[in-house]
Parts: sequence; structure tokens; C-alpha cells
Amino acid sequence: MARIAYVNGRYQPFADAQVHIEDRGYQLADGVYEVVAVHQGRPLDVGPHLERLKRSLSEVAIAWPLTPTALRLILDRMIRKNRLVNGLIYIQITRGVARRDHAFPKRRIKPALTITARHLAPTPDWVVAKGVRVITQPDLRWKRCDIKAVGLLPNVLAKQAARAQGAFEAWLVDENGRITEGASTNAWIVTKNGTIVTRPLGPEILAGVTRRAVRAFLAKSQGKLVERPFTLAEALQAKEAFLTSATSWVLPVVSIDGHPIGNGQPGPVALGLRAQYAKEVAQSR
Ligand code: PLP
Repeated sequence: MARIAYVNGRYQPFADAQVHIEDRGYQLADGVYEVVAVHQGRPLDVGPHLERLKRSLSEVAIAWPLTPTALRLILDRMIRKNRLVNGLIYIQITRGVARRDHAFPKRRIKPALTITARHLAPTPDWVVAKGVRVITQPDLRWKRCDIKAVGLLPNVLAKQAARAQGAFEAWLVDENGRITEGASTNAWIVTKNGTIVTRPLGPEILAGVTRRAVRAFLAKSQGKLVERPFTLAEALQAKEAFLTSATSWVLPVVSIDGHPIGNGQPGPVALGLRAQYAKEVAQSR
């Protein structure tokens, strides 16, 4: 079936979808985005994703191109038009089209909204059972990583370094030797005494929607969560490690830079949280 894209108010065949050469997103990375996972034909955690999109837009002074309710309807329509069962929806909003100049255009321009849908099989059970490997890279990003901005060059380079080494993800390390997050995921460890640790929200990390869901389970189950920065050295000594994102859910990490974490197998905390996430997804139907 042909893929359909949404471009500034129109549904178009994916192969024909185009944006203007002077779209400020293209020339200046002047835009923000969201990735919403789709499972069994349903978008997951749409509310929190749209909330985060609203915040990103407001932080960079781009106006909502349409109401959140209208955007929600377009997402549903994109799922139907693309017959999407499992996959993701990518939403991008840029400041719009104007003659290239760093400063905002003087005259009011319309933000540009593009949406694509992609089929993506759920993470296979064998990947979960084996766990994934991560490498570390210096965190070269800007100081507002809480904004989900389209300028992703440092993330691209870090992820490519991971791919080149056969790893799933790159965990980014700040100037103090502390892990911020992954190139496109949040990072977590479980210490020897069973405390779950992840970096607190702030400008150094993205407020992951999956992170928020995991945090909510832990609050309900009285799981021991401490939000504080942790070093690479501490991660290497951890009992378990895992990562979270909309498309990966919760994935056990079994090695960092080639060093096995714990016994080198997915741990019970990560697997338990993944099972809980899957249960919540099933119950929300
Ligand atoms: N951190 C970064 C830098 C990301 O790009 C992402 C997702 O794209 C995440 C964390 C995870 O966020 P979410 O759980 O909302 O997918």
C-alpha cells in the first residue's frame, strides 16, 4: 500500500511529498518534532507527546499551526490512511518559509507542519532476551536538550559511532564524567543495593515520555527510584542498566563500552519494568 504523508494541510503520496527549499527547518534547523509510537493501530501516550510538543514550541516561540485536537485527528487519519499497525508517527513543526536570515522573519509566517508514518515491527523477543549493548560518547550537544529540536547533528554522530561498533545506542557523557542520556533514549542503572537511578529532568536531557511512564509505575509500586546524575564508573559497577524510549519501550542494557553490566544478562528490574509497560499498553486499549 502506498504511504501517505501530511504536508501543510494536505495528505499526499509519500513519494511526492516536498517542502520548500527555504523552510527554516531545512536551512537553520529552526523547528521541533515528536515521535509517537503506534502499537496495534493505536498511538501510545499521545497526551504527553502533544504536551511536550507544546512546550518545545513555546520555548522556541513557534506558534501551534493548528489546535491540539485537530492535530490529534490528523494523527488518527494518518494511522488509517497508512494502515499502520505497528510503527511510528513523526511530527515536525518548523518556523516556516522565509528568506534565509538567522533572526525570526519580520513579517508573520505560517509554521510548517509535516507528518510521516512508518511501519516498524515491535522489538523482537529475542532482542529483549539478549539485551542490547551501548557505547559511550562525549555529550557534544547544546545546553537546551529539554527542547525536542530538529538540530540533531551531535546525536547523529553519536548514534553512528554506536552503529559502527555494532552497538544499539550511544550513552552521552558530560564534562564531569556523568551520563546524561542516550542519543535517542533515556539512560537508567540499578545499583548493587537495588536503587534505580536516572538523571533528573533539566536542560541536559529530554523529558522522555517513556521515562515518565516508568517513573509513574515506580511511584505506584514503591520502587526505589533516585533521580540524580550518575557517572560512567558507577554505571560500569551497576547491577543492571536499561534504556527507555517511545519505540524501544524499556530495553535491558547488557554491556557498556564492551564491559558486561552485572552478570552480562538482562536483569529482573529492566525485564519487570518492560513487562509492566507492555501490560499498561494492553490495558489502555
Ligand atoms: N532522549 C533523547 C535525546 C531522545 O531523542 C528521546 C526520544 O527520541 C528520548 C530521550 C526518549 O524519549 P521518549 O521516551 O519520549 O521517546
